Amino acid sequence: MTESPQLPPENVFDWLDAEAEKRAAAGLVRRLRPRPAQPEELDLAGNDYLGLARDKRVAGAAAAAALRWGSGSTGSRLVTGSLELHTELELELARFCGAQAALVFSSGFAANLGAVTALSGTESAIVTDKYIHASLIEGCRLSRADVAAVAHSTPSAIQHALSTRRKPRALVITDSVFSVDGDLAPLGELAGICRENGAALLVDDAHGFGVLGEGGRGAVHAAGLSSAPDVVTTVTLSKSLGAQGGAVIGPRRVIKHLVDTARSFIFDTALAPASAAAALSALGVLKSEPDLPGKVVENAGNLAMQLKAAGLRASLPDAAVISVQAPSAEAAVAWAESCAEHGIRVGCFRPPSVPDGISRLRLTARADLTEADLDRAVKVITASAPRGATA
Ligand code: PMP
Repeated sequence: MTESPQLPPENVFDWLDAEAEKRAAAGLVRRLRPRPAQPEELDLAGNDYLGLARDKRVAGAAAAAALRWGSGSTGSRLVTGSLELHTELELELARFCGAQAALVFSSGFAANLGAVTALSGTESAIVTDKYIHASLIEGCRLSRADVAAVAHSTPSAIQHALSTRRKPRALVITDSVFSVDGDLAPLGELAGICRENGAALLVDDAHGFGVLGEGGRGAVHAAGLSSAPDVVTTVTLSKSLGAQGGAVIGPRRVIKHLVDTARSFIFDTALAPASAAAALSALGVLKSEPDLPGKVVENAGNLAMQLKAAGLRASLPDAAVISVQAPSAEAAVAWAESCAEHGIRVGCFRPPSVPDGISRLRLTARADLTEADLDRAVKVITASAPRGATA
């Protein structure tokens, strides 16, 4: 038997300090920066694409629901947590997207975990784009399936992995709009490959829902796949809808299966009344203002073109997200800080959040950005660019 070292209790977590030093040396320390209630900065970092998080109708619906139903939902959906609000939101989400049914979760992360694990298992092969969101990767890790993560946006690699799989069932997983560079997956082509190979397709439409497709119905709807019997969509309620929570949208039998088996649904307290009501209200706004989503895409395109014209390595966005490559993790942090000092809040992605190891600024466009906002943003981002940031 190996002797266990006699560590005094106060030293049990010493290894955390050693890890923290390593992260500091690699420029990977993360800081939590509280946002004031009335931000003075121009926000190009959040995911409130339609500006609905502060919309009085949406916030008012949240407040009214909290007063009527309580501040918490009090239990899981299967015990005391199911409210009419949840059912109404599920019906509305399904109807809006043109799908049979929907199920809401307490976050998009939980929706992804639940969908991936419930729709796969030891008899399954999962094939994913290697740049899928962390929540889907965690789902794959928990799934007990054979998992192959293949080259980014390469349908032939998905086809190859599917046709050489050793398991009878198969699930292909992709983001619709990838969260770092904002590029769109070839959903139509992927759906075709899935069909040829007897696989289901799971699409995380977190960054497409509310931004792409007719009236913001999302990338899956735009690809004509929202009522497909073999396609399942996940969304978050916390980006375009300005609320909190997530949902799985798809065939009725998939949703029934999730109610019975998805552990992040069954063992999780139901979505709070305020969040459900906010999402429902935001969906109403989206329906009454179908031009909002187009403005997001237009603003993102203009911002990216101007940054590129200034020589920066900016991605060309398919939706709201733009990335700008930085020469190093430290340079990215300093760049983002310098932007903040000049009144522009931008995101900063470093390893391990960027799978290819290239640190980036991450910018997000909103529907309500003005031309003056865009001009100011381009001036500040360009003037604070570190050496080596231009192409
Ligand atoms: N999927 C993607 C692509 C995301 O970007 C996010 C949020 N960053 C999530 C899922 C998780 O959603 P939520 O924040 O609602 O948990």
